[in-house]
Amino acid sequence: MSKLVQGYEVVIGFETHAQLSTQSKIFSRAPTAFGAEANTQACAVDMALPGTLPVMNIGAVERAIEFGLAINAHIAERSIFARKNYFYPDLPKGYQISQFEIPVVQGGEVSFFLEVGKETVRKTVRLERAHLEEDAGKSLHEDSSLGASIGDGRGQSGIDLNRAGTPLLEIVTQPDMRSSEEAVAYAKELHKIVTWIGICDGNMQEGSFRCDANVSVRKPGAELGTRREIKNLNSFKFMQQAIDYEVRWQIDQIEDGHAIQQATVLFDPDTGETRAMRTKEDAADYRYFPDPDLPPLVIGRDWVERVKGEMAELPRVMAERFVKDYALPEYDATQLTQSKAVAAYFEATAKACGQPKLASNWIMGEVSRRLNASELSIEQSPVNAAQLAALIGRISDNTISNNAARQVFEGLWNKEGPSGSGEGEVDAIIEAKGLKQMNDTGELEKIIDEVMAANPKNVEEFKAGNTKALNGLVGPIMKASKGKANPAQVNALLMKKLG
Ligand code: ADP
Ligand code: MG
Repeated sequence: MSKLVQGYEVVIGFETHAQLSTQSKIFSRAPTAFGAEANTQACAVDMALPGTLPVMNIGAVERAIEFGLAINAHIAERSIFARKNYFYPDLPKGYQISQFEIPVVQGGEVSFFLEVGKETVRKTVRLERAHLEEDAGKSLHEDSSLGASIGDGRGQSGIDLNRAGTPLLEIVTQPDMRSSEEAVAYAKELHKIVTWIGICDGNMQEGSFRCDANVSVRKPGAELGTRREIKNLNSFKFMQQAIDYEVRWQIDQIEDGHAIQQATVLFDPDTGETRAMRTKEDAADYRYFPDPDLPPLVIGRDWVERVKGEMAELPRVMAERFVKDYALPEYDATQLTQSKAVAAYFEATAKACGQPKLASNWIMGEVSRRLNASELSIEQSPVNAAQLAALIGRISDNTISNNAARQVFEGLWNKEGPSGSGEGEVDAIIEAKGLKQMNDTGELEKIIDEVMAANPKNVEEFKAGNTKALNGLVGPIMKASKGKANPAQVNALLMKKLG
C-alpha cells in the first residue's frame, strides 16, 4: 500500500550511526566526552602511532548485545572485525576498524505506528544488521561552518582526533520504507529504542545519532532503482525535507531521460537541496580484510542471558503490558511508551485516578500539546501526575465538564492554585473560576425554556426532522450557563422538552 509520487514508488533504506555511550573509546582508554579542546582526548592508539594495538572495549560489545535483544535480532556467537581501507586526513591509520562479513547483530525488526490519512497503521521495517565500528577524527577548516578557529586566519585546515576511535553501532535496514513519512517515523522509533535502553544519548546536534538515507524510485512492480545516499541527516525535519527533495529530483531526471548515477549526496538546509558529494564507492574499493590485530569477537549465550536479565522493560513489552493491565488500545500504549518519563507519568496518573483511558487521552492530548508548544519535556511539566489525576477525578465525578476541565488545566499549568499536590489545587481553581457544573435541574430547565423561547425557528426545524437544528439550541444554553451546564444533561432535558 505504498503511496505513489507522480506514478513512482519510493524506496528507502537507512544506515544509522549511533554513538555508544561508553566512557572510553572502542579500542583505547581515551575518554569520549564531547566538546573538549582539540586533540586532548586522543591517545597513541587513536593517533595510530606505530606499535600500538587496539583492545576491545567490553562496554561497547555489551551495548551492541542490548540493541540486538531490543529489536529481536540474532546476536552472533562469533563476529569478525575488518579493516575498511581508505585515505583521508582525519583517519591516520589509513583504515577504519569495522565489521564487514560477519556483524555482531543480524536481522531483527523495528515497528511503529504511522498516520496515513485518517487511519493509523502499523509498519514494520526489517533490519539487515548492526555492526560495531570506530568513528574517524574531524577535519576543521578555518572559517568553515564549524566555526573552528585554528592558526592565524589564513584559511588553514587542521585535524582534531578527539572523535577518532569513538564507538559506533551502524544500524542498517532492508530497503523497506516507502515514503519520507515512513522513513522519519522509523528514525524516531529507532531513536526511542537506543535512548530507552541507554546505549546512546541520542543527541542529534552533537552527532550522536546520524542517519544516512538511501533513496531510489521505480515504477510499481519494477526492479529496484539505482539509489543515491543522503549522508549525515541530523534532524528529523531535515530528513523529511531532504528525502522529499531527492525523490522529486530523481523523478525529474528519469522523466527527462537521464539515468540515475549511484552517488553520495549532501543536504543543504539553506537551499533545501541535495547535491552530489562523490560517486559512490563499492565495497571492493575499500579492500576489506579481517583485522589481524583483533581476535574474533566471541559472545557466549550465558553472556547474552546475563545482559538480558539486567535490561529494563523494553518499550514494546511495556506497551503490551499497558494494553493488558489498563485495557488501552494498542495505539495509545505505543504513544505512551515514547519515553520512560512519559510512561511513568501515565502510570502514576492512571493509578491515582483509576481511569487509564481518560489519563491516556489527557496525556496524548492537552498535556503533550502544551508541552510541545512550550518546548518542554514531560519531566518539566508544570502539571504533575497527581494534579492531572485529581483533575480527571473531578471530571468523572461530574463536578466539572470537559470544557471546564481544560480551564482548570490551564490554571494548574499557570500555577494559579495554592501550592500543594493534587486535589487541593484542583478544587481551589474550580472554586476560584466558578467552574462547578450546574447540578440543579431547576435552574438549568429555566435556561432551556428561555433559549427555546428565543429561538422558535430552531425548535420548529427540529420538530420537522432536522436534527442539526439542535446545535443552534445547545450552544446558547451552554453559553447562558457560562459553560457550567452538563452537556449530557442539557441534551437529555432538551430532547424531553422537544418530545
Ligand atoms: P553499501 O554496502 O554500499 O552501503 P548496502 O547493500 O549495505 O550498500 O545497502 C545500504 C543501504 O541501502 C541499506 O539500508 C539498504 O536497504 C539500502 N538500499 C539498497 N538498495 C537500495 C535501493 N535500490 N533503494 C533504496 N535503498 C537501497
Ligand atoms: Mg553500508
